[in-house]
Amino acid sequence: MSRLQFLGAAREVTGSCYLLEAAGAKILLDCGMHQGGDAVERLATETFEFDPRELSAVVLSHAHLDHSGLLPRLFNGGFDGPVFCTEGSHKLLKILLEDAANIYFRDLEYDNQLRRRAGKRQKPALYSERDVARVIASCRPMPYRQDGEVAPWVTLRFFDAGHILGSAIVELTINDDQGERVLVFSGDLGNPETSLMPHYERVKKADVVLMESTYGDRNHRPMADTLDEFRAILAQAEKDQGNILIPAFAVGRTQELLFHLGQFYQEGLLDNWQVFLDSPMGTAVTDVYSHSTRHLDRDDMVTINGNGSSNLRDFLPNLTVTTSVDESIAINKVRHGAIIIAGSGMCTGGRIRHHLKHRLWEKNNHLLIVGFQPKGTLGRILVDGAKKVKLFSQWIAVKAQIHTLGGFSAHAGQRDLLDWAAAFRDQPRFFLVHGELASMEALQVALRQCHGIEAAIPQYLDSIEL
Ligand SMILES: [Zn+2]
Ligand SMILES: [Zn+2]
Repeated sequence: MSRLQFLGAAREVTGSCYLLEAAGAKILLDCGMHQGGDAVERLATETFEFDPRELSAVVLSHAHLDHSGLLPRLFNGGFDGPVFCTEGSHKLLKILLEDAANIYFRDLEYDNQLRRRAGKRQKPALYSERDVARVIASCRPMPYRQDGEVAPWVTLRFFDAGHILGSAIVELTINDDQGERVLVFSGDLGNPETSLMPHYERVKKADVVLMESTYGDRNHRPMADTLDEFRAILAQAEKDQGNILIPAFAVGRTQELLFHLGQFYQEGLLDNWQVFLDSPMGTAVTDVYSHSTRHLDRDDMVTINGNGSSNLRDFLPNLTVTTSVDESIAINKVRHGAIIIAGSGMCTGGRIRHHLKHRLWEKNNHLLIVGFQPKGTLGRILVDGAKKVKLFSQWIAVKAQIHTLGGFSAHAGQRDLLDWAAAFRDQPRFFLVHGELASMEALQVALRQCHGIEAAIPQYLDSIEL
């Protein structure tokens, strides 16, 4: 008997994790962490519902931490097998896990310093740098659309999910004495309107489908409208003799912004502007994208190459990439005409907070929000219209103009999810994962109405037979 258990991203968006027991093997599908809040407290609450030593292998859909972040802890807990992923995920995983580890060790050290002074017991680290290195060394990168054996009688194939570089739809085929069964996991499906990523692939055959439902209840704004809005903001900021600050996620969003700014440059809209990429992680990821052009959208690569450029950096000649802290601080001297892209995407950390401190109180400046801002983050507080915010123990007046550009989501909207689901033949069993309950319920209704598909919404720890 084969069994699949839902161990995360069940009626929630983060913590993607599923356990497949088939043909005598235990295979973990994603090993994601929950996101938000304090890194040290959060990690302490994450537990595994299985013994990591009993797993034969891990299969990773993509490198985002809500799908991969607990891998170092899995190795710390005794797992010692292969991690199957795509080539792109392998490269991004190193950058993402090392960055997360740096934040974790820094916060843990600070916590322990306070505890020492208070005479309290030290909190132990739940994983080490060595565990991160073991994750990377255990990766088995595989190309898309090629079969690989994950365990005896279990075959793996990745399809492009079009979400971030290396993102995959996972197909696992079990072929034991009970016959052939195919499990397809959507991973995170991309938004076909966004740049650089190819369109997600449609899969036709499956017995069981796990499908993400992040935006199961809505469609995104068309990209053309979003770009028109972006052009209007540029024109206004130029008239105001101001600057534009853009908090951006290092993976995906930053590269997409560089591409669109490159197009604006070619249109002659950036003649009086200087663009700064002030994000060491965003720069590292941009370089990975630049070395992986064969996995990027063909039309967008034609646009970049048609201009004689070979990568994103060349495509935007007035781009300055800053690495050192001194270079970052030097941006403060630019009086106007600076477009500053910096992390973090929700203004919860990173260099963007310094730029906000320096620029938020001037009304000729513009803050451009290009990603989802969850409740409680500084990004959300600004979007909600706060008149002043505290940055580095100082109150800063919010006089800058704040804009939200809604079209940049990296996730498929409802229409795309329905399109992906409709490609399957022979009516597989559908299970919705990776979404808030309201969004899942809306998608469940839409699947029934549009395609006659009955989808279940499993709960944490539920399991199904395959
Ligand atoms: Zn993702
Ligand atoms: Zn995700």
